[in-house]
Amino acid sequence: MTMSATAERASVCPMDCPDTCSLTVTVTVADERVVKVRGSRANPITEGVLCNKVSRYYPEFVHGKERLTVPLKRTGTKGAGDFAEIGWDEALDTIRDRFQAIIARHGAQAILPLNYAGPHGMLAYDSMSLRFFHKLGATVLSRRPLCGGIKDEAWRSVYGAAPGMPLQQIPLAKLVIVWGNNVTVSNLHLMSRLNAARKKGAKLAVVDPKRIKAAERADLYLPIRPGTDVLLAWALAVELERTGGLDRDFIAKNVLGFEEYMARAREWPAARAAEACGVPADDIRTLAAWYRDAAPAAISYGNGLERNRNGGSGIRAIAALPALAGKFGVPGGGILAAAGYSFPKSPDKLQRPDLVPPGTRTLNILDVSRHILDDALDPPIQGVFIYNHNPVIVHPDQNRMKRALAKEDLFVVGCEVAMTDSMRYADVVLPAATHFECADIYPAYGQQYLQRAEPVIPPYGKSLPNTEIFRRLAAKFGFGGPLFTASDEELIEDAIDGADARMQGVRPAAVPTGGAIPMTFGGEEPVLFRNVFPKTPSGKAELASEGLEQRFGQRLPSYTPVESAYPLALITPSSDKRISSTFGGVKACDATPLLDMHPADAKARGLADGATVRVWNDLGEVRLPLRITDAVRPGVVCSAKGAWFKTSDNGQTVSALAPATKADIAEGACFNDARVEVAAYG
Ligand code: SF4
Repeated sequence: MTMSATAERASVCPMDCPDTCSLTVTVTVADERVVKVRGSRANPITEGVLCNKVSRYYPEFVHGKERLTVPLKRTGTKGAGDFAEIGWDEALDTIRDRFQAIIARHGAQAILPLNYAGPHGMLAYDSMSLRFFHKLGATVLSRRPLCGGIKDEAWRSVYGAAPGMPLQQIPLAKLVIVWGNNVTVSNLHLMSRLNAARKKGAKLAVVDPKRIKAAERADLYLPIRPGTDVLLAWALAVELERTGGLDRDFIAKNVLGFEEYMARAREWPAARAAEACGVPADDIRTLAAWYRDAAPAAISYGNGLERNRNGGSGIRAIAALPALAGKFGVPGGGILAAAGYSFPKSPDKLQRPDLVPPGTRTLNILDVSRHILDDALDPPIQGVFIYNHNPVIVHPDQNRMKRALAKEDLFVVGCEVAMTDSMRYADVVLPAATHFECADIYPAYGQQYLQRAEPVIPPYGKSLPNTEIFRRLAAKFGFGGPLFTASDEELIEDAIDGADARMQGVRPAAVPTGGAIPMTFGGEEPVLFRNVFPKTPSGKAELASEGLEQRFGQRLPSYTPVESAYPLALITPSSDKRISSTFGGVKACDATPLLDMHPADAKARGLADGATVRVWNDLGEVRLPLRITDAVRPGVVCSAKGAWFKTSDNGQTVSALAPATKADIAEGACFNDARVEVAAYG
């Protein structure tokens, strides 16, 4: 047997993950197949290491049986998955004809793009696609509320669009508080920096409802009740004040709203907060003392702790701590956050929101299923174009989304890499190229290196890059001119402001592949309050926010407990197999996720380890194998999000239990406000 020749090519991980790793991809030369994916050192953050998810599953994701390789039209009922192959011309002509019929009857706003954050390259994420929908006059989708919007809005209310601390400064810290961030699953490259800091004597504190791996190595672990983060952060502020840990000079010079903020925080001293948060008061006092005394001291908060009704308040109150304790201004101090603001992105030039006709409505992504089912909506939604998104798996109130997409008079277009559960509802399915088959440029939201990638293989089967799909669709609609014929190279030039000093004179389309450009400020890594400063209206850290008061009535953080007849809080963090729902189609992700429950809760319900249980509330029911473990606190059950319907015996996954309610700010999703009951099944 002869080994076929292979070549190694540089790429970048496009997943919805803060790390944005640099990759070395091994491809077979003869038939251009991806056979291996490894971490590279092109981006220093990656250190040649990447997560098991991408290294194990990516080749199957590109070439596996779920991969879409040809355009399809639906031949069976919606959701059943019966399709027949068609050509690209027929697919695009069908979309044009159906959309034009809808526009003739109801206007262009009856069409809605339904997209989220599958790939994170700026071109695939949204470039030609939004130019097309904006020019069409389609309803504008507000996507951020599904994920990321609360956190971003909360950060910006305190510090504006300024970047927080870079990941590589963590080893300088003497204390790191990891707050709601499952590092080994969702922020892998923080772990090696935490280990480096600890080797030099730093303390590690973890705040999380689940005893994650990092918690097992921590010097202090606070198993907080979901949704009470704001109370813990207030109690820490009160302790700092009580024990002389406030930096009065820094506050006088750099903080707005201090007195108002502390007046509210003082309602929650350690003893009271301890009860509500479900953690020992002494541990709160210890953490406050450590934070007061450590210099530099860093906080890393994750994605997820804000997905509840108090989520914006929780992030704001955590973000206030370094301002109160004077932890900014030194490398290794502050908060790992908002790295996306390090990059000179130019989304207006790339996506052209100026093309949106005046008066066009904007709908919150969380309300899409409700709006589709609303016959009184004027104009009604008659056409939906799903791309970079798997709505039936990831939206709250999953059953409502299924009913919406199954509506017979709704024309659904899907554009995807794999035959996801959402694609099964589409009338026309367009096969999208993976990022290994496309050119793109990659900022990041968890680190501050800009990267670019070229295709490492040609588009697989008859798939096409998102940019080319929307170029062809624009041509079908007669949208001409340079905006709609722009090449990928031209789009990359539009995506990033090449004249910005951070680009060091390098054109965006000339960023070397197999390299990475660090975003610096005055030639140095960003350090908040040293070389970057809050971009708030006052130029200070704003602990009371006029902007949030005007939009959401939230001048100060607030706390509202969840009232429910269902006794258990269900949290649905990231899985160690999937990235959101990506990779849900690969063989290794076939297993039904476990439900973790504390022994006391299992005993109270007479449940045995390994039994199948039903987990339900008024929105739905999910059947899951039970794992009894003290890694979750009493009163909380936990199951990983993102599993596909093939893991379910009744077509429902954990999103079926998540309410479609809105958080305190940003109208964001409240996945972790799900309250459920659990009983034996069968
Ligand atoms: S998912 Fe995250 S950790 Fe894994 S390879 Fe991609 S960027 Fe790296």
